[in-house]
Amino acid sequence: MNILVTGGAGYIGSHTCVAILQAGHMVIVADNLFNSKAETIDEIKKITGKDVVFHKADMTDEAAVDEIFRSHKLDGVIHFAGFKAVGESVEKPLNYYYNNLVSTMVLAKACLRHGVKRFVFSSSATVYGDNAIPYVETMKLQPTTNPYGETKAMSERILTDIAKANPDFFVSLLRYFNPVGAHESGLIGESPNGIPNNLMPYVTQVAKGKLKKLRVFGNDYPTVDGTGVRDYIHVMDLAEGHVVAVENLTEGVHVYNLGTGQGTSVLQLVKAFEEANNIEIPYEIVGRRPGDLPEYYADAGKAKLELDWTAKHDIFDMCRDAWRFEKNYQE
Ligand code: NAD
Ligand code: UDP
Repeated sequence: MNILVTGGAGYIGSHTCVAILQAGHMVIVADNLFNSKAETIDEIKKITGKDVVFHKADMTDEAAVDEIFRSHKLDGVIHFAGFKAVGESVEKPLNYYYNNLVSTMVLAKACLRHGVKRFVFSSSATVYGDNAIPYVETMKLQPTTNPYGETKAMSERILTDIAKANPDFFVSLLRYFNPVGAHESGLIGESPNGIPNNLMPYVTQVAKGKLKKLRVFGNDYPTVDGTGVRDYIHVMDLAEGHVVAVENLTEGVHVYNLGTGQGTSVLQLVKAFEEANNIEIPYEIVGRRPGDLPEYYADAGKAKLELDWTAKHDIFDMCRDAWRFEKNYQE
């Protein structure tokens, strides 16, 4: 298959390009490099020994997107391109709604115009809002607390309605839990701008000495040790999930949780990182971060049943691979 990967120079997109190429498909990347670098495309080629076509293009630019669809015979699109910082989305809601929703609509329109059937969308566990755990695909979605989350719920809705009206447009909505780690080569990984918001990149920067100590946001939640619990998933497992989703996509709308089904607390992750890498992570307990839920993780049963997909890496692999990338390749 020829797969268009939007946002393919970014964190999850670049790992997915590797997995798609290794599964024997062709990859065409379209990215405006707003939050990534063109060199990542070279790293993907280095890891796989395969070629990648790269278009520097904005997915909200209808003419540019149409040109890409005209110049390749595409079999599917995996749409990663978008903005993803929850806090920033509260400060700049219009940027988030515009970029995340318009890109989805422009790409769906191009698929219909050019007869491209398969559309895989990067959604998030955030669409479950304050539901019971574990999260199951059949749950009624709850309102999210920020514009970023709303763009994911709205994009899901838009794509679902388009698929209902167009039987030749097949949609897979992938709800990611907490992607962490890096490719085992250490050549690609997560490179957040400025001080990281997310736990794992913060921990790796503390390990490197770039940041002094981790601030643990709350230890009075009703969880195993009082700290927040999440379902961390290795980014290469997530990448493999996209390969099976696009390969097996059939008529209709298919929703899958991509998580491990295992919850890990902040302090459990710190301990796993210390053991896996033999490095001490200094931390202090501070107040809760506004908007954080105490605990959530996936029911990962549907992806296993229908796609024969399960996450293979454990929390130690995630910590080891995240650290290898930070240690060797980050400035
Ligand atoms: P990322 O920022 O590393 O990658 C996104 C890529 O999209 C970047 O390379 C950026 O330059 C590009 N981009 C943004 N807007 C664009 C546009 N209009 N046109 C072309 N390119 C554009 O982010 P990521 O962590 O790899 O996330 C990928 C997707 O997965 C996003 O849609 C994100 O919302 C979703 N997601 C991420 C997480 C996470 O924790 N990382 C969790 C759930 C869902
Ligand atoms: N967290 C923390 N310190 C940090 C960053 C995150 O204690 O510097 C906690 C956070 O409160 C949550 C968990 O780590 O319980 C995961 O947070 P992250 O931002 O990585 O993911 P999300 O909140 O989106 O699930």
